[in-house]
Amino acid sequence: MPRQPFALTLKMWGFMAVRLLITLALGLAVGLITGRVFAGLFVTLLLYTGWQLANLFRLDHWLRHRSLMDPPILGGVWDDVVTQVVRLHRRKRYHKQRLLTVLHELRDSTAALPDGVIVLNRSGEIEWLNRMAAQLLQLRGRSDIGIRIDNLIRQPEFVQYLAGTDFSAPMVLQTGTAPETWLSLHALPYGEGRRMLLVRDVTRQTRLESMRKEFVANASHELRSPLTVISGYLETLATDPALDPQLAPPVAEMRRQADRMAAIIGDLLVLSRLEAKDAQVEGEPIDVAAMLALLRKDVLARPQRPATVSLDIDSADRLLGDDIEIHSAFANLVDNAAKYTPAEGTMTLRWWTDGAGAHFSVADTGPGIPAEAIPRLTERFYRVDAGRSRATGGSGLGLAIVKHVLQRHGGRLEIDSVEGRGSTFTCHFPARRIVPAPVDPTHS
Ligand code: ADP
Repeated sequence: MPRQPFALTLKMWGFMAVRLLITLALGLAVGLITGRVFAGLFVTLLLYTGWQLANLFRLDHWLRHRSLMDPPILGGVWDDVVTQVVRLHRRKRYHKQRLLTVLHELRDSTAALPDGVIVLNRSGEIEWLNRMAAQLLQLRGRSDIGIRIDNLIRQPEFVQYLAGTDFSAPMVLQTGTAPETWLSLHALPYGEGRRMLLVRDVTRQTRLESMRKEFVANASHELRSPLTVISGYLETLATDPALDPQLAPPVAEMRRQADRMAAIIGDLLVLSRLEAKDAQVEGEPIDVAAMLALLRKDVLARPQRPATVSLDIDSADRLLGDDIEIHSAFANLVDNAAKYTPAEGTMTLRWWTDGAGAHFSVADTGPGIPAEAIPRLTERFYRVDAGRSRATGGSGLGLAIVKHVLQRHGGRLEIDSVEGRGSTFTCHFPARRIVPAPVDPTHS
């Protein structure tokens, strides 16, 4: 909206000043004629002020009842003030209308989303929800607005998720049993303590995922028995003195491959078992220092191993966890370092605790891993160098097992590596998994 030019404003105020001067001159003239100068001036000024007050009153009256009345015509500067007010009002109405249109469009588009959306305020009360959210979570819609979401969805895992601080990933919740329904709920924090909850039906994906897991578990299980028979016969054949010497190398190779297959099947079964148990494991206090000493001993006993295998135990604290799972994870990392580090290399096992939690690391001076491969290492069957992995008898499942075990313990795997220099794999566990070392009575 164009502004009034300054020159025009100045002209109007000038006109007002001239009018005041004319009034004063008139008063003076009347005073001189009647011989009462002051009285003449006083009366004229009084009339002038009265007129201005009347204008002010009309302006105030109009401002208070603006929506019902047309703007008053007051003349001079007063008209200018009225025009400015009308302009401001129109501008405000225009912006308000625009905002309302945007808001309605936003709400309409969100309401049409195939996913559920719930807006939660700072106290976790529902401020707004779309039709899909109400349908998926079996809420009543508008009448649930203002109610705390954890009063409506009471599953402990959801209440815990919402009370937490980590919203990087969605949580999956089983809401119906017949038919089985699975929902993914993702809280997205925004503004000051507000959250938007995205709700999605993931029943199909969850069913497919569980079918896949079952298939892998069953197939591995079914393959194990025939493979055991084949391995048995191959062993008998290999040790048979009547075996044609020409057949010895292919039989040895067959045995090697059968062992590899058995290792892959064994790892697949371990993974299936880990995946079947979704919840976090509680477990018992594990003496990590003793476990690492044994793992080191195993590496030292290998015919091919790095020249130096050091052990760096900084803490006697124990780790609360599943002994078998933790052993399997740590052994996989130690095995990888031992496999991929050349004979003249070094590997170091470290165990320490601090304010952030408990940590176990395996550092080696092996070939290292290219940066682009690091994020993919924990995928099943992912190998940086398939030839090298096969030559060392790797199944390609070791790091996937490590990742799952750590997840079940609330931990995470960190991988640092520089190609050509070596790698460090660190397992981080939360502080609540630390069990202080028992006090040794002989050292009191
Ligand atoms: P594998 O059984 O093939 O070793 P893993 O899942 O344990 O399978 O490891 C995946 C891939 O990560 C390996 O094939 C290898 O390429 C790479 N890798 C793992 N540990 C190391 C290491 N310490 N140094 C170099 N590469 C490694």
